[in-house]
Amino acid sequence: MHPSRTRIATAGVPSITAHAHGKDVAMSVLEQLTPPKEGQRITITDGHLVVPSQPIIPFIEGDGTGPDIWRASQRIFDAAVKASYGTQRRIVWFEVFAGEKAHTRFGTWLPDDTLRAFQHYVVGIKGPLTTPVGGGFRSLNVALRQILDLYACVRPVRWFEGVPSPVKHPERVDIVIFRENSEDIYMGLEHPSQSAEAKKLIEFVRKEFGWKVREDSGVGLKPMSPFGTKRLVRKAIRYAKERGRRSVTLVHKGNIMKYTEGAFREWGYQVAHDEFADVTITWDEVNRHLDGKVPPGKILMQDYIADVTFQHMLTRPRDFDVLATGNLNGDYLSDAVAAQVGGIGMAPGGNISDVHGVFEATHGTAPKYANQDKVNPGSLTLSGVMMLEHLGWNEAAERITKAMEKTFRQKIVTYDLARLMDGAREVKTSEFATAVIDNMA
Ligand code: NAP
Repeated sequence: MHPSRTRIATAGVPSITAHAHGKDVAMSVLEQLTPPKEGQRITITDGHLVVPSQPIIPFIEGDGTGPDIWRASQRIFDAAVKASYGTQRRIVWFEVFAGEKAHTRFGTWLPDDTLRAFQHYVVGIKGPLTTPVGGGFRSLNVALRQILDLYACVRPVRWFEGVPSPVKHPERVDIVIFRENSEDIYMGLEHPSQSAEAKKLIEFVRKEFGWKVREDSGVGLKPMSPFGTKRLVRKAIRYAKERGRRSVTLVHKGNIMKYTEGAFREWGYQVAHDEFADVTITWDEVNRHLDGKVPPGKILMQDYIADVTFQHMLTRPRDFDVLATGNLNGDYLSDAVAAQVGGIGMAPGGNISDVHGVFEATHGTAPKYANQDKVNPGSLTLSGVMMLEHLGWNEAAERITKAMEKTFRQKIVTYDLARLMDGAREVKTSEFATAVIDNMA
């Protein structure tokens, strides 16, 4: 089978992706790890992700319950690929390390080889990792985000029939959140209260701009740029276009923070106008000229203030489809919306650049359940579904989704859902995976 090609825009690709071209240099790139003998690396050519028939994919199984959910998910991925493509395609898994396992083996929580592997092999997946208490360690997510410029955090949120939910109509939730990952107040550009730096900054803004900030304040910067915003919104619109989604909503708090949040809104509309005029239409145009009806084939561009979004997400979730948000708003919103469809055991996620993708379970390590074969592998499994879609292996992705739908309808679930579901058959993590695989037939 020929390599599959996925169209990927390369604008803004960091210089490291130059390594993605040319021959496989993993042996010289990695110092402590030995890459698999079989398989090939995914490469980038002319803006396309070129996926060989046996791509090498690095994975981190994760800490705590990570190994349990990884084992289960990996079996599901392999079964889906085999059922979809027979012997023509196969993922060659390459274990890399972070967290406790890395600390035990290599004396560091985050070996450089792990970062290099994710960089070199372009696409990877990870389970949850322990965040050691205290300073002095690098966070894998932060390091990967910076090195690979994973500027979009993508979180699809949909309901699976049968999964218990705290809302009356969870079936009305089917949204995909594109959260900006590299800017905003989360950049950590802040100084503590009473520090010399904070005082200096407060004095500077008093002198230069006449701003009055309480002297003992902690202070931080909230940078949001046209570059950062536009590439995020571009990705969201492109996704909506490719998947036939109905709308893209820009979520912001521009009524209060005009030059950051408000500008996010303006820049978002600009991208739609300048680059996607043929497929988008604004709410304003629809109301003014089209009697409130969106013409078929057009993606509605709208914007909502963040607090109203939270409210409407509960009362009329059908108003939303694809969402583009800043970093902070997206963080809150992602978990709140996930709760509407069954909570964190089920929410998948991916951090994506124009080329690289690192997909991950969005919950933590749930250490009290470690090695009990007990927790829900759904979040990691569905993150793998996102990864397969990223590779363009849509048949395998769809097979998993359908099999999971069927398994939930049969009320075969792990403890977290069983305790909320009447007539459920509670199974172990591994048994859930087996049920999903059986349902692929
Ligand atoms: P957590 O691990 O997400 O667990 C909190 C609770 O969520 C669990 O006690 C459990 O609820 C439920 N839960 C989590 N995973 C589940 C699953 N797969 N299936 C079913 N239920 C699940 O949060 P935490 O206890 O605050 O954090 C533990 C460790 O994880 C910390 O070291 C933290 O830093 C780390 N963490 C890592 C990541 C990451 O790597 N992406 C993200 C968040 C946290 P019940 O008790 O109700 O059963």
